[in-house]
Amino acid sequence: MNILLATSEAVPFAKTGGLADVCGALPIELVRLGHQPAIILPAYRQVGGCGLPIESMGIDFIVPIGSKMVTGHLLRTMIPGIQVPVYLVQQDQYFDREQLYHTDGKDYADNCERFVFFSRAVLEAIRLLDLQVDVLHANDWQTGLVPAYLRIEYHSVPRYQRIASLFTIHNISYQGQFWHWDMLLTGLDWKYFNWRQMEFHGMLNLLKTGMVFADSINTVSPRYAQEIQGSPLGCGLEGVLQYRRDVLSGILNGIDPREWDPATDPHLPAHYNVESVANGKATCKAALQQELGLPPDPRAPLVGLVGRLTDQKGFDLITDVMQRWVQTSDVQWVVLGTGQPKYHKLLETIAERFRQKVAVRLEFSNPLAHRIEAGADIFLMPSRFEPCGLNQLYSLRYGTVPLVRATGGLADTIIGYDAQTSHPAANGFVFHEYSALALSEALRQACDAYGRGEIWPRLIDVGMRQDWSWARSARQYVELYQKTIERGHNRGLTT
Ligand code: ADP
Repeated sequence: MNILLATSEAVPFAKTGGLADVCGALPIELVRLGHQPAIILPAYRQVGGCGLPIESMGIDFIVPIGSKMVTGHLLRTMIPGIQVPVYLVQQDQYFDREQLYHTDGKDYADNCERFVFFSRAVLEAIRLLDLQVDVLHANDWQTGLVPAYLRIEYHSVPRYQRIASLFTIHNISYQGQFWHWDMLLTGLDWKYFNWRQMEFHGMLNLLKTGMVFADSINTVSPRYAQEIQGSPLGCGLEGVLQYRRDVLSGILNGIDPREWDPATDPHLPAHYNVESVANGKATCKAALQQELGLPPDPRAPLVGLVGRLTDQKGFDLITDVMQRWVQTSDVQWVVLGTGQPKYHKLLETIAERFRQKVAVRLEFSNPLAHRIEAGADIFLMPSRFEPCGLNQLYSLRYGTVPLVRATGGLADTIIGYDAQTSHPAANGFVFHEYSALALSEALRQACDAYGRGEIWPRLIDVGMRQDWSWARSARQYVELYQKTIERGHNRGLTT
């Protein structure tokens, strides 16, 4: 099968979150399964830092954006080590910027225009590059218009009549909502601006657009696929998803074992596998404590957090619990992330006051993220909601015991240890109610179990032996692509 992944992020080119991990890793596994994927994404400034040779294809194109005609240029590179072509859409006014979507905490005012342009470029690239595409796989609101253009504007062009579309929702709370006049930028008829298609409470909604026009929809865990059909996690779009539930499914993300393997990870001071985890982790923990300026106490449980510092990730609970615990326990904390300014301030204040117990790094650092996964004992993810979550999967592989709230992909991947039942498949700690008290209670349970020879090594062992690699998830994507093609044919695609 020929699959074109249209995305606004992909590792190693541009990343702000899990979307980039998915779009960088899935194509590699698809190749291994005998398919022909390609990726198309914007040529952001960050792409230049990927360290790979990027060549111009010598192809310019012009697309209408509202009343303007805008020119773009196609570049090409390859995912290293495997034959996956990566097409980059160059338009420096839109994409040669400091950040991907915002600056100084504010979204770029022309985000709609930027991604109308990119979505149109995706459709044009298929023609200009003479790409064979069976499934056009669009992702998140930035490419929500791709299935719409395919169905509305390109449906009469023979080469496009054979293309089915899949739309993946990585996080339904980011919907790409813009004022109604931006409908003019899309060039689509106002008749589509109605509550069943592109309109949402008077606004243009690009995520909804993707959900409405794609042949199949999926999200990144089975639990999240259920949760978003209801309120509040459907974020207002639950009705659309209930209406389209026959074509909605959930596939867990995987992890890229080449990047996340404690036996080979170049960012770690020591390497280990499931047999040598005890020694390897002890070395990684001591080195991490030293790097962060924390006392090198091997017995103090080290709690790690990596991620966007947002309400979604439960940072209101975390800061609350952390402030109580630093005063009364020997637990050490390390937080790596960037996000909402209120959490930056609060975390900095706590870290300044309790230097011996709390280390905070307000930055994006992939190497440090790896060292935290290896050096921490407990990894905390008390998310309000979590479509899939990757960090708990990295933690399992690195022998770091996840403590999570039972939501979305966290609920699908972590089985909580409970002293009463002592479930043999337990691989972490789980709490349910979104409250500081419930988190605190789960943390107490984890700290009680920590260091207990009959419990802790077993939790680590179960987690490290599990297979959360992309190989598993990619097989499910192949099945979904096949179904998507069938659905396309049922609505009249030609073969
Ligand atoms: P989301 O996509 O909601 O941000 P995920 O857990 O699915 O959350 O994926 C987040 C990815 O981004 C993980 O690979 C995580 O390690 C990485 N990440 C997030 N913040 C940082 C940071 N400050 N430094 C390094 N990596 C980060």
